[in-house]
Amino acid sequence: MRLVVLGGGESGVGTAILGKKQGYDVFVSDFGKIQGSYKEVLIINGIAWEEGKHTEELILNADVVMKSPGIPDKSPIVKQIKEKGVSVISEIEFAAPFTEATTIGITGSNGKTTTTMLTYHLLKAAGLNVGLAGNIGKSFAWQVAENKYDIYVIELSSFQLDGIINYKPHIAIITNISPDHLDRYNYKYQNYIDSKFRVTMNQTEEDFLIYDYNDEAITEWLNKNNTKAKLIPFSLTDEFNEGAYIKNNKMEVKINHEEFAMDTEHIALEGKHNLKNAMAATSVARILQIRKETIRESLSNFQGVEHRLEKVLKIQNVQYINDSKATNVNSVFFALDSMTTPTVWIVGGVDKGNDYNELMSLVREKVKAIICLGVDNKKIIDVFGGVVDMMVEVDNMTDAVRMAQRLTEKGDTVLLSPACASFDLFESYEDRGRQFKQAVKNL
Ligand code: ADP
Repeated sequence: MRLVVLGGGESGVGTAILGKKQGYDVFVSDFGKIQGSYKEVLIINGIAWEEGKHTEELILNADVVMKSPGIPDKSPIVKQIKEKGVSVISEIEFAAPFTEATTIGITGSNGKTTTTMLTYHLLKAAGLNVGLAGNIGKSFAWQVAENKYDIYVIELSSFQLDGIINYKPHIAIITNISPDHLDRYNYKYQNYIDSKFRVTMNQTEEDFLIYDYNDEAITEWLNKNNTKAKLIPFSLTDEFNEGAYIKNNKMEVKINHEEFAMDTEHIALEGKHNLKNAMAATSVARILQIRKETIRESLSNFQGVEHRLEKVLKIQNVQYINDSKATNVNSVFFALDSMTTPTVWIVGGVDKGNDYNELMSLVREKVKAIICLGVDNKKIIDVFGGVVDMMVEVDNMTDAVRMAQRLTEKGDTVLLSPACASFDLFESYEDRGRQFKQAVKNL
């Protein structure tokens, strides 16, 4: 069997290694450049590869093609492969049959990484032999090749889900759904929603789907479609006999007639959105029957993930917060919502079709000044121009942070929460977050 892997990044190289181990004739093709360290791995393992091109003769004779998540369906080579009737699958689909491990698949528009890390933290603290996969760290396929774990917590983007045929997680989470990546879905929101729900399409009665009960797109889909999985809703406002909710400042999780409760003030993560993430992760832990005391302890010591509402420093009693990963309006909504003191908000970057009006009432209530950091700030200025007292444009992070310091007084907060992609001024959201932290330290 000939396996062609499109894309020589983390998931591509992981798939190649697994394919080779399973006896496939493997070929890796990357239209861009393959990182040096990955090339070495391919060479050591005797796997053929090319970069800077897609050679049709070497690709179109494949029996199966694994497409890395960054490559769009509309790219010419993918179209050609599909026209030949060869199946194009994702890394998860390719790797899952080669492991007996239980998988927990976490998807959604926001909160995937946080919920994945928290779930992993809960299971690991309970002593389970658990691996972390998906967009984080080593790829799932690579870890399957190394046969390392009994359980995997996997962050699943919609692109990974688009390439599944038979894969099913034992426990699925859909954290929430709001418009994102529409350029990859023919600008149809419904296509993107359907893509997220692929996470449950192969689930059976023994499996679970954990989801936000108050999310419109999710409940509408569930009303119109079927899943065989057992439904476990979570909510900040409603109560369930089976599910998770917040009542009288307590998080309660009821699963299989067993009840778990914990004071929300002891949960280390801050913000309403993180209560939702905590309910989802705790539901997983309870389904797997992890001891209540272990869960309580883990929730009280999990400090969150870098670049997600990350507290950087307090300088002259002003708190600086790095939320560089907030690349859409919905995540900024929750960031602003969790601000407790007057906030200088650093926003901007590459706009992905944002509707800033959704933030209007929070901006009125919480924001004292806006610093626009991006190449094109027109939309932000148009929407909030008359709403805040002070609005400034800057073109680099150092100036943004210096300006923020000038505009604050004791007790205020400076929040970097851009609502935009970072590629105008930075290499990535990580680079943007690190530059912010460095600039704050330089103060
Ligand atoms: P993802 O992996 O889905 O991008 P992250 O956990 O990396 O999600 O968080 C991305 C951004 O969204 C951060 O700014 C974070 O503070 C915010 N966020 C985290 N959880 C949620 C949630 N449940 N709802 C809305 N926003 C969230």
